[in-house]
Amino acid sequence: MCGIIGYIGEKPAMPILIDGLRRLEYRGYDSAGVAVMEDTIALHKTVGRIADLERVVPPVSSGTMGIAHTRWATHGGVTEENAHPHMSMDQSIAVVHNGIIENAGNLRQRLIETGIEFRSETDTEVIVHLISREIEAGRTPLEAVRRTLMLLRGTWGVAVMIHGYDEVICARNGSPLVIGIGEGEMYISSDPHPLSSHTSRVIFLDDGDIAVISRSGVETHRTDGPTDHMIVTIEDQWGDSDMGDYPHFMLKEIHEQPEAIRQCISGRTLVSEGNARLGGLSLSAKRLRLLPHVRLIGCGTALYAAQVGRLAIEHLARVPSFAHVASEFRNNDPVIDSKAVYFAVSQSGETADTLAAVKAIQAKDAEVMGVINVVASSIARQCGQGVYIHSGPEQAVASTKAFTNMVAALNLFALQIGRARDMPRTTGRTMVKALRALPDQVQSVIEDKAPYSAAVELLKDAKSVLFLGRGFSAPVASEGALKLMEIAYIPCLAYPAGEMKHGPIALLEEGSPVVVIAPDDVHRDKTISNIEECKARGARIILIHTEGDVIAEHGDVCFTIPSTEESLSPMLSVVPLQLLAYYTGLALDRDVDRPRNLAKSVTVE
Ligand code: GLU
Repeated sequence: MCGIIGYIGEKPAMPILIDGLRRLEYRGYDSAGVAVMEDTIALHKTVGRIADLERVVPPVSSGTMGIAHTRWATHGGVTEENAHPHMSMDQSIAVVHNGIIENAGNLRQRLIETGIEFRSETDTEVIVHLISREIEAGRTPLEAVRRTLMLLRGTWGVAVMIHGYDEVICARNGSPLVIGIGEGEMYISSDPHPLSSHTSRVIFLDDGDIAVISRSGVETHRTDGPTDHMIVTIEDQWGDSDMGDYPHFMLKEIHEQPEAIRQCISGRTLVSEGNARLGGLSLSAKRLRLLPHVRLIGCGTALYAAQVGRLAIEHLARVPSFAHVASEFRNNDPVIDSKAVYFAVSQSGETADTLAAVKAIQAKDAEVMGVINVVASSIARQCGQGVYIHSGPEQAVASTKAFTNMVAALNLFALQIGRARDMPRTTGRTMVKALRALPDQVQSVIEDKAPYSAAVELLKDAKSVLFLGRGFSAPVASEGALKLMEIAYIPCLAYPAGEMKHGPIALLEEGSPVVVIAPDDVHRDKTISNIEECKARGARIILIHTEGDVIAEHGDVCFTIPSTEESLSPMLSVVPLQLLAYYTGLALDRDVDRPRNLAKSVTVE
């Protein structure tokens, strides 16, 4: 969600800032802007895409220091005035901000009373006027920023540039910021991804940090004085962050799933022992044997992966397991048992609701394991233990390969917990074999010349679409509904198939599309009854089923998946649903990689 880029060095800043903004586009935004220090601060803003911003910036700009921003509006409409950077009244200070200032209303009122004229409706603008007041009172930039931050309540990643000072000041509280260290130049970014083409040496700011960044170095401070920082080297992730020959990131990422799964399971399964070994899990076999329960926490796609994970842990390890919506869990005064294990599931590792839940659990003395894609992200660092899912960079807003890898990683956990308890070695071996077969199986589903256009015809003009599944396929139904809703903007409802008759059946009329996920498992026969109930009311069935199953005769348009272990079936059955969402989005001319109003990394609560 939204992003910050900054540069201070010897080169012209503008192209570096624009390139950085382009690399942050995947996070989701609605407007953008850039400020470069020339003789005065040159400011350019626009509503829309980075390509639109490029059209309004001058072809040549010599300034070697600048800050830039992609905005995801929280306070004030999507307008050029509200786009960042925001400037002090005398145009000598520029500020970009990610996050929300909760007490902006009061501060704004007080500033207006002192004669400040606001130019935007944003919460952010108070920051620049407060800093300006401190600078006018003779404080140094660091002191001015520090004193300002002490007045703020809420979350921020901020970058500040002040005319007459050769430094950028940054601060973090709840919104990530990373500083990239070059030779005589420094970069600032809200995630490490745009830095990768410039440097691999970075400093991750922690909440409460303020950094003063010059060409030659970085000083970090906290409210009570200077503090140390750690320079870490980020390793290359597998996978390309460019689109290559694909027309969209989403299609590329769907196609990358076989390799992504290989990366996730490689070196983590033990064939002869029928077990999994996850290096980041610091839990003794004794602890695993005595687990009272497991709780998994996530949002959106990660929540549905967590729901599959909780079923896998109950199924394979026989430990009571629960999946929770992060924002609900954390705000409902949860009972935390320090003997239990908690998992925080997030692709970006920056999801604010999940991060807040992690802190709430840790505050009550329990351990949280991260199930995260982005290495060294805030949740990964806050948890300090867990597993990276190794999906490679995921840039389409709608998550695909992260879902399959979260499910793969959670199956590995389930296997490891199960084997530490009562799971026989032979069952473990069957699981390991099935896991290892998955990349090729997913490949075959992707390559299958399945009837996508017939299904798109049923979906694209639908008033609403119902998704049904039972057992492991119930969260898959939710994920399929989420994908179609995100990409095609069609209202979608997902239900456990058995619940359909308790409400959503009222929606069905002649021609209503119903997507049913019914692999060959213990639920299959009961799901057939639900299919018939839908058909009796005129519904048209898009059916995902196991190859060779006669259940096909119950569907109007059918997609097949290979046979696998029950807990792994979501990794196969989700693939046609991802492609269906993609093709329906295309048929409706949607911006599939950047659907409206959505953000990739949701850093506000
Ligand atoms: N709350 C600020 C605004 O609405 C910042 C939003 C963002 O993080 O992009 O302008």
